[in-house]
Amino acid sequence: MNYIAGHWVSCTGDRTYERENPAAPARLIGQFPDSTPADAHRAAVSASDAFPEWSELPANARSEVIAAAAGLLRERQDKIAAVLTAEEGKPLTRARGEVGRAAEALSYFALSALRPSGETLPSTRPGVALSVRAEPIGPFLAITPFNFPVFVTALKLGPALASGNTVVWKPSPFTPLTSIAVIEAFADAGLPPGALNLVMGGSAELGQSLVDEPEIAGISFTGSTAVGLDVGRRAAARHARVQQEMGGKNVLAVAPDCDVRRAAEIACESSFGESGQKCTAASLVVVDKRCGDTFLAEVDAVMSRMNVGDGAEPGTDIGPLVDQRALGRANELIGRATREGAIIELEGCGNSSGTDQGGYFFAPVVARLPAGDNVLKRQETFAPIMALVLADDVLTESVTLVRDSHMGLSASILTDSLPVAHEFARRIPAGLVSINLPTTGVEYQAPFGGWNYSGGPFPEAGPRACEFYTRTKTVAVCDGA
Ligand code: NAD
Repeated sequence: MNYIAGHWVSCTGDRTYERENPAAPARLIGQFPDSTPADAHRAAVSASDAFPEWSELPANARSEVIAAAAGLLRERQDKIAAVLTAEEGKPLTRARGEVGRAAEALSYFALSALRPSGETLPSTRPGVALSVRAEPIGPFLAITPFNFPVFVTALKLGPALASGNTVVWKPSPFTPLTSIAVIEAFADAGLPPGALNLVMGGSAELGQSLVDEPEIAGISFTGSTAVGLDVGRRAAARHARVQQEMGGKNVLAVAPDCDVRRAAEIACESSFGESGQKCTAASLVVVDKRCGDTFLAEVDAVMSRMNVGDGAEPGTDIGPLVDQRALGRANELIGRATREGAIIELEGCGNSSGTDQGGYFFAPVVARLPAGDNVLKRQETFAPIMALVLADDVLTESVTLVRDSHMGLSASILTDSLPVAHEFARRIPAGLVSINLPTTGVEYQAPFGGWNYSGGPFPEAGPRACEFYTRTKTVAVCDGA
């Protein structure tokens, strides 16, 4: 079902797709509509029709609806988390965490409807009051990926709706029931019909027809670099504004002066957390040669305590990959990396549970890369693969690896040296830099955006998140005619 103009409606075509539980593919989640360009158009018209009413609603009324949706996500946290784990595969504790963070983000963006916007400027003309207003633009399209279907969505719906825009949302086809749960929270919170519309499906034809819809004023996309660039080209062709949050090839550097045991824990979380299916995952871990052996021994110890299995089982650290294709891709990457000279140093976890039902499980791997080129230096991994690079100078090596990847999302260094930390933050060409922390980005109150082929010019989240969703109007008022 799609959600258009405040109603659950059937899709116009007869194409459907099935989604299965990635931990046990025989367990069917359900059959869902694969929407057509006609559905895309219907949703865009609905968002366009709803725009005047929603944009003219007083800011406090918009704020209250978004805050109420946040409250409902909190109330329904356990239920939504269970659905998310069943569809996407992530461990239940992480799914709960994601829903909770999405609620926090929406609460934050609810308040942004009431924060100061625009500015007052001194005029060079006597008797003239000069101000700049930030005005909503119209219907926005939100396209979201499978791996954080609630949190990433909150980062888009929050500022878009708070600024007075309406939205058409096309979530990933892998998480249909989670998407329905998010829509239900907004509908039950009192969002007027048409202010938020859901179009389900996963075909490129659907995505492209939504991007091409003339009613859509702007597109906020999160997903792979290849699709993000296509969205960008199509948006530019009709002069629609576009926000692109794309893939990553993230480096975590381990300096010789750090606590290596702690470094191993942080590296395992960065590389294996969420099964490596994170745009911010550390797929490249650059370790000072002098502590390479100790680091590997500590990583081995962490891996032996980890549990790969069904995310619904208590104690699971690493759930399945999202589908058969992702599993095939991970196996291919490892095959190619070893053919290109990589050596598998560590493989597997200490424990497993619920892995006997044909699920798409991929046990974590640590592969040491050779000097020179290797596929794991170039391609986003999106699987629990830690590619280890031993270096004489971790700082210079990290900068080179990020620069050569042409991406630049997230980077982290583990060091006890303040000068090294500052130098890393200054030199690394990436949008998010962490010191003594994993390569993750969960701070919705701070800007989140990648450089180069990881992102476009508009980062999302943070205090300026609404800028993408508004346009300025300069107003000069003279007191008398
Ligand atoms: P994906 O690019 O395959 O799909 C993302 C979304 O785009 C889905 O809703 C999909 O149905 C839709 N889509 C597919 N083809 C389209 C087209 N031609 N036009 C318009 N929309 C289209 O990505 P995914 O596999 O769902 O997610 C994983 C990717 O997302 C990784 O590359 C990851 O790094 C990235 N990601 C980035 C961030 C970030 O903030 N930078 C966050 C999460 C995920």
